Amino acid sequence: MDRYDGIVIGAGHNGLVCAAYLSRCGLKVAVLEAEREIGGGASTREFTLPGYKSNMHANFFIGLDDFPIVRDLALARHGFRYLTPDVQHAMVFRDGTAVVLHRDPKKSAASIARLSKRDAVAFGHLHQRYAVELAPLMRSFLFHPPLPREAVAERIGGQKGKDLLAFAPMTISSAIDAHFEHPKVRALFKLFAHAITVEDEPGTGLFLPSLFSSQTTLGLPVGGALELPRALERIILASGGAVVRGAAVREVFREGGRAAGVVLEDGKRLGASRFVASSLNAPASVRMAGEDAFPAEVNEKVRNWDWGFHSLMTLHLALSDRPRYAAEKYDADVGLSYNLIFGAEDDAQVVQNARERRAGKFPSQPMGNGSCNSQHDPSYAPKGGHVAFWWPGAPYALEGDAARWDAVKEGAAERLVGVWREFAPNLTRDTVRAAKLYTPLDIERGNRNMVRGAVRMGAYKADQLGVNRPHPLLSGMRTPLEGFYLCSSSCQGGGLNGAPGYNAAGVIAQDLGLGLWWEPLPAPALAAHA
Ligand SMILES: Cc1cc2nc3c(=O)[nH]c(=O)nc-3n(C[C@H](O)[C@H](O)[C@H](O)COP(=O)(O)OP(=O)(O)OC[C@H]3O[C@@H](n4cnc5c(N)ncnc54)[C@H](O)[C@@H]3O)c2cc1C
Repeated sequence: MDRYDGIVIGAGHNGLVCAAYLSRCGLKVAVLEAEREIGGGASTREFTLPGYKSNMHANFFIGLDDFPIVRDLALARHGFRYLTPDVQHAMVFRDGTAVVLHRDPKKSAASIARLSKRDAVAFGHLHQRYAVELAPLMRSFLFHPPLPREAVAERIGGQKGKDLLAFAPMTISSAIDAHFEHPKVRALFKLFAHAITVEDEPGTGLFLPSLFSSQTTLGLPVGGALELPRALERIILASGGAVVRGAAVREVFREGGRAAGVVLEDGKRLGASRFVASSLNAPASVRMAGEDAFPAEVNEKVRNWDWGFHSLMTLHLALSDRPRYAAEKYDADVGLSYNLIFGAEDDAQVVQNARERRAGKFPSQPMGNGSCNSQHDPSYAPKGGHVAFWWPGAPYALEGDAARWDAVKEGAAERLVGVWREFAPNLTRDTVRAAKLYTPLDIERGNRNMVRGAVRMGAYKADQLGVNRPHPLLSGMRTPLEGFYLCSSSCQGGGLNGAPGYNAAGVIAQDLGLGLWWEPLPAPALAAHA
């Protein structure tokens, strides 16, 4: 039996982040990956045509400038770089108008003011409070295991704390409606919420300040999303660890009542003398460790885990020219924007779209966001070519049956190109060299962690957020099974931030009495981050 100090299940970026930090503590760590390629949701493939690189899942790397993993692990030295375009978002409308958000908040406010002066002022206030004054505090909440709400309130305190916590009981839509009046501005923020796959339920209002804390910090990974896991793998290998592909874990075995290693699907056993950490979703992690290791309430919670009704269908294009939007006449910066959002004319349509997806219907009016990455980083496409993608929201079980996606794929791709052309008229047969749809079913097929095409490994709703994610007994990265930890998006949440991996590494290092080679972010408290 191969033996390691620690084993991490799953080589998505969270598993790799956890292993990279602990490898650099001097532990011999193995990361086991079921698929032939590492990366999970950080994946890049030549999906449409040879030489045209498509990020199959995560594309927008949010907030990296200030994230500890980039600095601590010196990712740039290990080959991971990213760009942060100045023009961040443009939502374009069929009447040729647009709203454009820049890294410079004054320019964003000026764009919003063309539709509503009042909304421009509201934007300025929210940006100042959450992207400037409280952003470090919000970040510190992400990079520490979650706290119960009372502890959060205590640590924030003051009027700013009260203002922030006032969002907590709201739905995301009511939080947006409370601040913005113009239907197009509301549509923009509601489509952001759709992209984050927030459920529109009471208890999700805090996503608005959270969105503001990072919404103009979108980075594009140079050369593809896969470059992040590749850089993390280099760090692990350089520290004497291993990253094993094609190693699907079936179960965690125990010795003396503690986690002591794993059994692969082919029956091979690998031993871990100090810890086993799972980066898989909560139900899979609990199943692998054995339900008898957890109290009944945990088993019940994960058995009824809600994957959410949101998934995404991605239309990938190989092009001879970048999409040129009609709305560039209204605002030339549309043509420079990294994130492009279109499909809805007002927020009522966004709500209607969600209703259809919840009912398992192909949306009558597809809407969502996307990008032309090669416009910002030419290495995404061969000379003279471009790649672009668009992510309209879609149900997993189409008309009640996910298998239907295979039957409708081709026709749906054609239809979606037609919708995109309404906004970017140059997307004709002359420009589009290839168009291919990647469906919610394909997401699940490519990554067994993304059950039902889940973007975040569990719905974002009150009983699956904060300490409730996945359950108060597991949200601190430790579990009731000694030696078994979680570093999964089903804790904290999904997104290419590495927070679950980082937080788990800190907890494991603490439990094992390892000296930290990195300086942890100060604990969440307004005073510490003022
Ligand atoms: C279409 C789409 C678009 C997205 N866009 C963005 C975006 O723009 N920005 C953003 O921040 N986030 C985005 N996300 C979310 C993001 O991709 C995920 O939150 C992130 O990849 C999760 O990382 P992870 O390491 O927690 O899990 P994963 O990336 O899922 O990694 C888990 C790994 O475990 C492996 N595995 C599964 N089962 C086993 C097993 N039994 N044994 C061994 N290995 C196993 C999987 O193959 C996988 O490699 C998007 C997701 C989707 C689906």
